Order: sequence, then structure tokens, then C-alpha cells
Amino acid sequence: MNRVIVVGGGASGLVSAIVSARNGASVTILERAHTCGKKLLVTGNGKCNYYNEDMSVKHYDSYNSNLLDKIINLKNKELVLDFFKSIGIVPRVRDGYYYPYSNQAVSVLNALLLEVKRLGVVIVNDCYVIGIKRNANGFIVSSNIGNYQADKLILATGSYAYYNFDNINSYKLAASFNHNIVDVFPALVQLVVDDKITKKWAGVRVFSRIKLYQDNEFIREEEGELMLTNYGISGICAMQLSGIIARGVSNNKKYSLVINFVPTLASDVSSMILFLDDYDKKCSGRTVVEILDNILNYKLSNVIALDLGNRYYSDLSEKDKAKLASKLVSFRVDINGTKLFRDAQVCSGGVSIREINLLTMESLIVKNLYIVGEVLDVDGDCGGYNLGFAWTTGIIAGNSVVNESD
Ligand SMILES: Cc1cc2nc3c(=O)[nH]c(=O)nc-3n(C[C@H](O)[C@H](O)[C@H](O)COP(=O)(O)OP(=O)(O)OC[C@H]3O[C@@H](n4cnc5c(N)ncnc54)[C@H](O)[C@@H]3O)c2cc1C
Repeated sequence: MNRVIVVGGGASGLVSAIVSARNGASVTILERAHTCGKKLLVTGNGKCNYYNEDMSVKHYDSYNSNLLDKIINLKNKELVLDFFKSIGIVPRVRDGYYYPYSNQAVSVLNALLLEVKRLGVVIVNDCYVIGIKRNANGFIVSSNIGNYQADKLILATGSYAYYNFDNINSYKLAASFNHNIVDVFPALVQLVVDDKITKKWAGVRVFSRIKLYQDNEFIREEEGELMLTNYGISGICAMQLSGIIARGVSNNKKYSLVINFVPTLASDVSSMILFLDDYDKKCSGRTVVEILDNILNYKLSNVIALDLGNRYYSDLSEKDKAKLASKLVSFRVDINGTKLFRDAQVCSGGVSIREINLLTMESLIVKNLYIVGEVLDVDGDCGGYNLGFAWTTGIIAGNSVVNESD
């Protein structure tokens, strides 16, 4: 019987262990933390958005994104959904986003752990793997509590995200086998703005359309609720842009966001002026701030009105109206960078997928070594895509680790 060691008992590690054991392997999970799946419990604000109906490659990023369709495809989607049925997860699907029906991440973790137990998979907690070497019998895995021998190895060590990255060697274990690591940056993380305005708008939530500019060139647009904070900008739609920004800033690129705070009222300056003129006609005699307070949070209307705030709208020149409208529909703010790894939900970069057989997740450099989950150079949008990638790669590895040639 194959002795399989899985390094890391997170999402991808637990699934690859289960599938390997179902295929007849004798499986041990080595997990550095006191319990497995700790990160799973905080996913989706504790509700665990574990998958998405729209599982297409456009929701993923990688230095080798042209290879992603080998993993993200309809066949593998069926495998994942069947897997979740097989461990007894009842889905609650909202707008294509999958959650456990209980709305609790712990349901997903418990279902995985029950299956691990049923299959007799051994879990060794508080076991920090510090080195892996090949020997005549396969692999010798060294940890803080001793050595382990394996015929086959699945690396499922995750990324730096959510941790203080000084304590994590996720990528180093793969690098020790000469795997190439694409530079790692925080992604799905808050944006940092170095400007006096952040103190004034802190605490405001506003549905907005945002456009990201890199060195003054438009690159991507998102829409959704922004959370304006005292350090900058948060909210899913801003965080979706953070991976691009973190990587670009390290290459001296400059970023700015152009925000439309009222996208359902007006899309450009002239339609905004028409709206304001019409408003002023219907409710005449109001100051700029008195009008803005009806469409925005008062903190934000003070930021936008600035020096025009106390003036009557009807007294504004055409130039002032255009200035005001422009602040409402195309408010420009320079982005300094992003928050840190420990604030991030995922990382961009990681083990290059060019060096992995994506039909089996086996390393193309080291036979019998499999690499799965977020330690790989693939990151997804918010919406169940990152867990989706962890499950998918875990299942592929579990199905390949015990094959006919063994
Ligand atoms: C706040 C937050 C919310 C999120 N929400 C969602 C969501 O709703 N939907 C979604 O799709 N994704 C979400 N994610 C992302 C998702 O959690 C990750 O993409 C996913 O957990 C990655 O799975 P993984 O198995 O690759 O890594 P992990 O789940 O991080 O597991 C890696 C495991 O390996 C262990 N390990 C690392 N190094 C070693 C070592 N040397 N020795 C032994 N053990 C080791 C770690 O302790 C850890 O348990 C969220 C992330 C965060 C932080």
C-alpha cells in the first residue's frame, strides 16, 4: 500500500488526503497548527463561500494563465460538486455562490474531518515540517517532532495570506526541490491611500463603480460596495484589484482609482449636471451640501462639496457645476499600495504551474511529489474561487497519487 504524506491540513490538504485514502492509500497529514482547517473557519465571514457556479478561467490569475483550463473546466467542476455531496454538504446557492446550508464554515470543516476519521487518515497536529529529502524509499520528511517516511508526498502548505509570513515556509519546501517560485504578493487585500481625506470619509459604505488606472492608463473596472476607511479603501470590488496593485507597485508602477459614487444616478459629468439641475429646479434654494446630503453619506458629501458646500447650487458657475459633478462621478484618488500579507485573503504568485503536470498535480521536476492549493501560482476572485481551486487540485492529486503503475 502506498504511504502518502500530506504536508498541510488546510482545504486542499484535507481533500487530497480524503481522495487518496478513498483510492486505497495509507495517508498521514502533518499539520503545523494545533488543529486542521483553521483558515477555513474564517472564510466567507464565517459562512464559507466554498464554490461558485460560474467556475471559469476568467476568474483566475496566474503568470501562466494560459494553462489554467487544464484545471478549471466542467469535468473538474462535476468532481468537486460530487465530492461535496459525498461528504454530506447540503449547499445553499445564492446568485451562484455556494455556502453550506447551515451558513456556517464549521459545517464544511466538520464534514471533512468526519470523512478523514472514517477513512482512518492519521492527523499529526503541532507538526511543523522543516525539510524534505528524497531517499531510496521515497521521501524523508523532517519536522519539529521527528522524521516521517513516505512513498509519495502531497505539498498543501498554502500561502502567506492571513499569517505573519516570517513564520511560514510554505514556498521554501517546494523551492528546496528546485521549483521556481513566481514572486509572491498579497491579493484580495485592502488598498492604502495616503491622503488627508481618509480621516474625513472613514466609516462610509457606498455602492460605487471604480476604474483602476496604471500609469494613467485604464486597466480594469469593478462595481460594488466600497468601504472607505481611515487607511484607504476596502470592500470586495476594491480588493479584487489589489493583486494587480501589489505586484505593480513593487515594479514602480503608479496607480489611481477613479470612483463614481453614484453610478445608478449618472455615468458621466454631463448626466450628473442634468440630475443636479433637475433636483435644484424641483427643490430650489438649497446649498450644495443640502443637495448632496440626500444622495450620499454626510461625511462623503462634505469631502466632495469642499469649498462649494455652503454656496447655493443655483449660484454656481458652469465651471463649478462641472467640478462638483466630476467629483461625484469620477473622484480620483492615488493608491499608495496594499495592506500586508496578514490582512490578505490570498496571495498572488507561488510555485510555477508550468512545472506541474496539471492533469495529475505531480511535479514535473520530482517524481511522486504532488503540489496543490494556494501554494501554487494561481489566485482567484472573491466568490468561492480560491477554495474552488484548493478542492479541485486536491481531488486531482488524490486521484493520481495512487495509480495503476504502483
Ligand atoms: C479571511 C479569509 C476569508 C476567505 N474567504 C474565502 C471564501 O469565502 N471563499 C474562498 O474561496 N476562499 C476564501 N479564502 C481563501 C481560502 O481560505 C484559501 O484560498 C484556501 O484556504 C487555500 O487552501 P490551501 O489548502 O491551499 O491552504 P490553507 O487552507 O492555508 O492550508 C495550508 C495548511 O498548511 C499548513 N502548513 C503550512 N506550512 C506547513 C508546514 N511547513 N508544516 C506543516 N503544516 C504546514 C498551515 O498551517 C495550513 O493549515 C479566504 C481567506 C481568508 C484569509
